[in-house]
Amino acid sequence: MEIETVETVPLRRELDDRFANAQKWIDSREYCLVRIETADGTVGWGECWGPVAGNREIIDEYVTPWLTGQRVDSVERIHDDLVFKLRSSYHSYVPASVVSGIDIALWDAYGKSTGRSVSRLLGGRRRDEVRAYATGHFFRDVEDFGRLQSVIAEEARGHVDAGFTALKQKVGLSRHFPWGPEEDIELVRTVREAVGDGIDLMVDANHAYDLATAKRVANGLEGLDVRFFEEPVRPEVAYYADLSDDVDVPIAGGESWAFQHEFNRVLSENAAEYVQPDVTSAGGITSTDRVATLAHSENVQCVPHVFGSAVALAASLQVIATIPGEPMLEFDRTPNPIREDLAETPITNDGDVVSIRDEPGLGIEIDESVLESFRAEP
Ligand code: CA
Repeated sequence: MEIETVETVPLRRELDDRFANAQKWIDSREYCLVRIETADGTVGWGECWGPVAGNREIIDEYVTPWLTGQRVDSVERIHDDLVFKLRSSYHSYVPASVVSGIDIALWDAYGKSTGRSVSRLLGGRRRDEVRAYATGHFFRDVEDFGRLQSVIAEEARGHVDAGFTALKQKVGLSRHFPWGPEEDIELVRTVREAVGDGIDLMVDANHAYDLATAKRVANGLEGLDVRFFEEPVRPEVAYYADLSDDVDVPIAGGESWAFQHEFNRVLSENAAEYVQPDVTSAGGITSTDRVATLAHSENVQCVPHVFGSAVALAASLQVIATIPGEPMLEFDRTPNPIREDLAETPITNDGDVVSIRDEPGLGIEIDESVLESFRAEP
């Protein structure tokens, strides 16, 4: 079936309370969704990582004229041709978020046109549900480190009370506060003591550290039973390889890498013990699936990064259904109405488990009236 229209839909919502990771304060959530409609009226939804600006212009002015009229079931061929086309135009910058948004929308439309879930089309499901870990524990507007410790500990206990058995917290305080690596380690100890020994704990620095500080923090985490230390340094393979070689805590990363060839470099250098491609930035469902296969062949677990709207969450789950080993779902617990309300049937957890839908495409229907309420422009 031919693609008839390709449309970008910018969404934006201000948050009631801002929060921070090491990189930035987050006071709104913004998404560039992609809507593809085929000649028979089948609709597929995709999502691009990052701000609307850039994604929207490249898709509207450059990708859409090329994509219109192509067959929606040629997903991987379109994916590869699009990467080729963008590379020839933008050279060292291949806008992977653009490829991702288009790729996800194509898979959704292809699935809906055949009546099959994307996980079936990817070669079949290994699981119908997945263990979810609660991602959150962002920094808040506080003046006092003790206050931050109590806020984060209270949040962690709340996730455990809700049934989660795995949590991920943020470190890298010195980017925003007069506190440093010692307080970062202390904050992890605070959470470990708040939740006890039975909970899996992960730590995410959002590339806050230089190499020496990352090693110091990694060593400081010893004894706190940290399952992985995510994005400790800038996402460069040599730093990751050095760190993985030097410290005991497993190193994770991937949300800043895209496409199979970038992950291939990481894996061939033994630079990470967990890889975390994001469907909205790594090159869509196609690339995330390829990376998961590649990682499995190198004995590394793929645990996709997820921090998007309901579209990204649903797309991630479809890939996770097919990932070998024991993937987990990164389940963003920060308040976000675009994630919570956009799907007609929201994706929710039952304790630490999220079920993976086997309905056509991504397994969700977008609530169009809710969508309009989040639209960033008339
Ligand atoms: Ca992260």
